[in-house]
Amino acid sequence: MPRQLPSWGLTRGGGNPRLRSTTAILTSLTALAATSLVAGPAIAEPVAGPCALRRTAAHHSEGLDTWNSGYPRPARTLDAVMVFLSFPDSPPLTTPRELTADHFPATSQFFEQASYGKFRLRPHPGREWVEMPRTSTEYAIRRDWDAQRRAVYLRDALAAADPHVDFSRFDVVYFVADPDAPGVDSDATKVVNFDRPMRADGVDIRRIVTVFERHPPDRNVLAHETGHVFDLPDLYHRPTDGEGDWDTHVGDWDVMGSQFGLAPDLFGWHKWKLGWLEPHQVHCVTSGVERLTLEPLSADPVRDALGGTRLAVIRTGRGSALALEARSRTGNDHATCTEGVLVYEVRNETASGSGPVKVVDAHPETKSCWGDSVYPQLADAPVRTGESFSVPGEDVRVEVEARTAAGAWTVKVSAGSEAGE
Ligand SMILES: [Zn+2]
Repeated sequence: MPRQLPSWGLTRGGGNPRLRSTTAILTSLTALAATSLVAGPAIAEPVAGPCALRRTAAHHSEGLDTWNSGYPRPARTLDAVMVFLSFPDSPPLTTPRELTADHFPATSQFFEQASYGKFRLRPHPGREWVEMPRTSTEYAIRRDWDAQRRAVYLRDALAAADPHVDFSRFDVVYFVADPDAPGVDSDATKVVNFDRPMRADGVDIRRIVTVFERHPPDRNVLAHETGHVFDLPDLYHRPTDGEGDWDTHVGDWDVMGSQFGLAPDLFGWHKWKLGWLEPHQVHCVTSGVERLTLEPLSADPVRDALGGTRLAVIRTGRGSALALEARSRTGNDHATCTEGVLVYEVRNETASGSGPVKVVDAHPETKSCWGDSVYPQLADAPVRTGESFSVPGEDVRVEVEARTAAGAWTVKVSAGSEAGE
């Protein structure tokens, strides 16, 4: 599920400032709670090394020693079908072609860049509307939707689409509702995971992305939802009182935190989890002082081929680690507010939506990019060239010594007893 707009109402994406309901607490089907009690099945492709946190039973755990085989791994081409659903109470005002253009090729380009070309998301949009048997208002579509009504929606949609779609050909399923139908609520966009898969064309369908976006939609919203299809967690913070900021954990720095972020490329940790960073591109810092050269995390046509280090990790506990990566104005991060070495904490026992990743702010006294950043407090979080930063609460110091002419950062990391020097 995407996050809400900041309270001051960004207008990016071309729409009007939007108010969204703030009643949401729980995102998942009740059934999901049952399936997440045990970590899903693993495939035998362990990521070695002392910095790889163990995958736990937490929903969308950030542990990455094994891949949960209940999810497709996006390290190849995956085929995604888009089914466009209309309703008998509302003749569509748009065409499937126009709605496809809302999301593609932008979403494929996002993943192409984020994965350095390792993952291709190939869309297969339906050409015609598929009409649902009930009116749009009958389904009572909304954020935190009644599970039974949602099940009726999904059953109706699958039955209506089945004559037109061979579901056995696809890895990802998007059900896109007519944005102009009166019962369609953009707050309800999410991925629905099934404890018992739906069946069509002889295959199990384990999850469906239900899209209820407006036209035009939130920028990067489909990239966010598709991230869940690959077992990535929500990184935003849901205020329990309906007030307050959603972006206190990671700000602009990963699309799983916000579809509106200025630097929405996926964290290096996520790229490691998904198989987009090779093991030799992840540097595990043990204790002592180490100097390393960090290539920019975001794609850069000149530097990508070099295959240098893109992520440094310091294990800080049984279930926690600090990650360091260089964020620069290239690729998916071309609109970033600030550049530098970003530091964040990762926890493998913390479930999706509960803060499994927290960005550490190297400039807690200042804010940046008011009016553009989703959370100006963290917009200047990276450690800049020439700065030395001691991570609060950890024996870790990060000094960004220089930036090479080619654009990489040279960093000195002191961990353990050396950090106090
Ligand atoms: Zn989400």
